[in-house]
Amino acid sequence: MSGARIVVIGTGYVGLTTGACLAALGHQVTCVDVDDVKVARLAAGRVDILEPGLEELVTRGLAARRLRFVVGSRAAVADAEAVYLCVPTPMGAGGAADLRAVEAVIAEIADVLPAGCAVVTKSTVPVGTAQRIRALLGRDDVPVVANPEFLREGTAVADFMHPDRIVVGSDDEAAARRIADLYRDLSAPNVITDAASAELVKYAANCFLAMKLSYVNAIAELCERLGADIVSVTEGMGHDRRIGRSFLKPGPGWGGSCLPKDTHALVQVAESVGFDFSLLTAAIVENIAQRDRIVAKIAGAVGGSLAAARIGVLGLAFKAGTNDLRDSPALSVTSMLAAHGAEVTAYDPAVREALPGMTVVDDPYQVAKDADAIVVLTEWAEFTKLDWGYVADLMQGDGVVDTRNLLEPRTITDAGLSYVGLGRPRPA
Ligand code: NAD
Repeated sequence: MSGARIVVIGTGYVGLTTGACLAALGHQVTCVDVDDVKVARLAAGRVDILEPGLEELVTRGLAARRLRFVVGSRAAVADAEAVYLCVPTPMGAGGAADLRAVEAVIAEIADVLPAGCAVVTKSTVPVGTAQRIRALLGRDDVPVVANPEFLREGTAVADFMHPDRIVVGSDDEAAARRIADLYRDLSAPNVITDAASAELVKYAANCFLAMKLSYVNAIAELCERLGADIVSVTEGMGHDRRIGRSFLKPGPGWGGSCLPKDTHALVQVAESVGFDFSLLTAAIVENIAQRDRIVAKIAGAVGGSLAAARIGVLGLAFKAGTNDLRDSPALSVTSMLAAHGAEVTAYDPAVREALPGMTVVDDPYQVAKDADAIVVLTEWAEFTKLDWGYVADLMQGDGVVDTRNLLEPRTITDAGLSYVGLGRPRPA
C-alpha cells in the first residue's frame, strides 16, 4: 500500500503521533476522537501535549491535506484501508485491562467497514484481543492485526520514526505484511508474527522494564545499607552488554500511563491461564515499597515527622520531557506527604494546573521559600542549573532529597545544604 487511506481512532499520545507520522510517511490519514474540543483544536493545528516535533508534523499534515481531524468513526471509516485503534485501555477491575473503549469502537464501525480493511490494534491489548475483535466484528472479510506501539512520551515522534523494531501480528499473514508495508520507509527490523505473539511482545517488554527498575531500586536500597554507591554499581553493571545501561537508574518508583496498568494486566492474564507470575508481582510490591522508602527519607530530612513540615517539590510529571501526570510517582509521593500532614508546594516546568493536596507554583524558587526540605521527584535538567546558594537562602531547613540522583551532591553541600540521594553515600 502506498499513500494508503488510514483512519486512526483516538488522538492521544499514541493516536496523534501515529496519525501525524503516518501522514508524514505519505499516507492519507483521518484522525477521529470523541472529544470534540480536542478535535477542533487539532484541526486548527493546536497540540496540547508536550511532544517535540508533533505540532510541526500536524501543521504540515494539515497543510498538505494528508491529515484531517473529525468526530465520529462511522463516516470516517467508509473507504478506509486500515483502521488503527489508539483508544485507552486503562486498568480495570482486579487489574485486568479495561477494553470497553476498544469494544465501543468496534460496535460503532463493524457494519460499515469496507471489505478488506484491516482493523489494527495499536493500543496495548491483552493476548486474545485480536480474536475477541474478530468475534465482535462477526465478519470474515475484515482482518485484525496487532501492531503494538513502543513510543515513549517526550520522544514520541522520534521513537515512531526511528523505532527499535516494528512488530506486526495477525492470523492473516497477508494482512500483517500489508500493515508492515505501511512503514516500509522506516528503517527498523520487522517482526511479523501471529496476533497472540504480537500482543504479548508489548506486555513482555514493558513488564521487563518495570522489573528492571524495581530491581535497580532494590539494589540502591542495598547500596545504602551496605555502604556501596549505586552510581558505580550501575555503571559497572551497565557496561555488560547483556544488561545494558538504560533503565538502570533508581527513582521514586515507576509510574506513568503504561507500566502500572500493563504489569497488573499481565499478572491477570497469567492468572487466567493458571500461572502465578510471582516474579512480576514481586516487582509491583517492590515498587510500592519504594514509595514508602522515599517518604521515610523525606521525613528523615525534616527531623522525623512530616506533620506541618514545609516540603518544596521539584517535578510532578512522571518523567522529564512530558506534561503527563497519569500515575506519576511524584503525585503518589506528594499525596502521601500531604496525608502525613506536610504542606507541599510544587513546581514543574511543564505543569501549571491546580492539583489536590499541594500548591502548584510557576517559579522553582517559590518552592524553596521557607521550605524545611526540597525534594526532586522528576529528572528535569533545569533543576541542576538552579542557583542552589539562593535556594539555601530562601529555605528554613537544609534538607535536599534527590529521588532521581539528578543533582551533583557537592553542589548542594557547597550551598550549605544537606544532600540525600538514592543508594549514594552521603557526601562528607
Ligand atoms: P490517551 O488517553 O492519551 O488518548 C486516548 C484518546 O482516545 C483520547 O483522546 C480519547 O478522547 C480518545 N477516545 C477514547 N474513547 C474513544 C472512542 N470510543 N472513540 C474515539 N476516541 C476515543 O491514551 P494514550 O496514552 O495515547 O494510549 C492509548 C493506548 O496506547 C493505550 O492502550 C496505551 O496503553 C497504549 N500506549 C501508550 C503509550 C504512551 O506512552 N502513552 C505508549 C505505547 C502504547
